[in-house]
Amino acid sequence: MESRRWSEVWGLHKASVAKRIAIMGSTGSIGTSTLEVVRALGDTYQVVGLAGKQRWRQLAEQCAAFRPQAVAVADQANAQSLAGLLNGATELLVGPTGLVELAAREDSDFVVAAIVGSAGLESTIAAVRAGKQVGLANKEALVVAGSIIVPLARQTGARLLPIDSEHSAIFQSLAAGRAEEVRRIYLTASGGPFRTWSADQMANATLADALRHPTWNMGQKITIDSATMMNKALEIIEACWLFDLAPDSIEVLVHPESIIHSMVEFHDGSIIAQLGAPDMKTPIQYALTYPDRVPGIARRLDFTTVRRLNFEPPDLDRFPALRMGYEVARLGGTAGAVFNGANEEAVEAFSQGRIPFGRIVELIRQVLDRHTIEQNCDLDRLLAADAWARQEVQRCLHG
Ligand code: NDP
Ligand code: MG
Repeated sequence: MESRRWSEVWGLHKASVAKRIAIMGSTGSIGTSTLEVVRALGDTYQVVGLAGKQRWRQLAEQCAAFRPQAVAVADQANAQSLAGLLNGATELLVGPTGLVELAAREDSDFVVAAIVGSAGLESTIAAVRAGKQVGLANKEALVVAGSIIVPLARQTGARLLPIDSEHSAIFQSLAAGRAEEVRRIYLTASGGPFRTWSADQMANATLADALRHPTWNMGQKITIDSATMMNKALEIIEACWLFDLAPDSIEVLVHPESIIHSMVEFHDGSIIAQLGAPDMKTPIQYALTYPDRVPGIARRLDFTTVRRLNFEPPDLDRFPALRMGYEVARLGGTAGAVFNGANEEAVEAFSQGRIPFGRIVELIRQVLDRHTIEQNCDLDRLLAADAWARQEVQRCLHG
């Protein structure tokens, strides 16, 4: 392949135009931040679709405020309650098929994929299949089905714009050189709430302990993933898919202040980093306005308050999820679906108080060890692997 800049590889040299945005997972942490960013950006950015699951009252309020063409609600049970609160201007779509329909509708050009977990997979694929620009927060979709999503995006011309802060940083830093000039990626990690805890202390950490993230304010599932460092493991796999990287070219670096969001080292020894306050509104806005940079509402970094930036290697013994992340990235095939499915199920069990914190990663390891990996799978096969992993976790819990 002739050498091209990253932005060209992704076909992103385009003048800014009005954008009609559908937000999948609009009631969540990324979803609500996206709405704040869109509101502040003004009239060129219009919300045409919203989607959520449980929080139907919030969905109704969002519909009243943003007047989208359509709203999708995943749960049939919440659809009637929501219908009663909508005025005639917004069409109501229901269930998983409603989500898929919303993501592919012709009235949007940009889809923000911000549903949590593999529940966001099918709507993300639908957006990619429809050739949308996709602001990708839903990393689990790539972990499960990067082998389908990335080739499909190349086929349809859909553009995957990372919202995950590290991947946004890598994306921005890669623009300083060419793909073949990259030596390695430094994927930074805050280290989570248990960075300094011993394995014994962590084993019985409570939900409240796990939810006390030192730098980021996020939804519950990703906050627990940050505590196990599964989040970083998922991000290794996400980076491999997004930027066509070998797992070994990615180095995780613990950086407790979360100011450097990730870095790219080039062959000449230059390291390009993206810095900013830990505020998801920065990468969300960058994905929405790309390739432009415009004033926004994200928190700004004040260097006079930054005393120092610290770095340390990750401790793979206390955080074995990280080692598994590399392993799964190398294995490919159904490994990502099993890794992610087992994690989602184990995190749910921990959230419900059914297992201690230390058991989350043990369960993932057990399930992965029992799995026979298959390569070159279609979506049904990947979804079956996800379902199998969840059942295996339940079997371990009951057996
Ligand atoms: P939240 O838990 O805050 O929000 C999740 C959203 O997904 C809600 O809108 C929820 O709807 C919706 N949802 C959940 N299940 C379903 C379903 N089955 N069908 C349809 N919608 C569903 O999560 P976050 O915003 O924290 O995270 C979203 C994604 O972004 C995750 O993949 C996460 O890894 C990624 N991400 C998040 C970051 C953050 O700062 N929060 C940072 C980087 C990545 P409802 O609430 O109405 O039930
Ligand atoms: Mg991240």
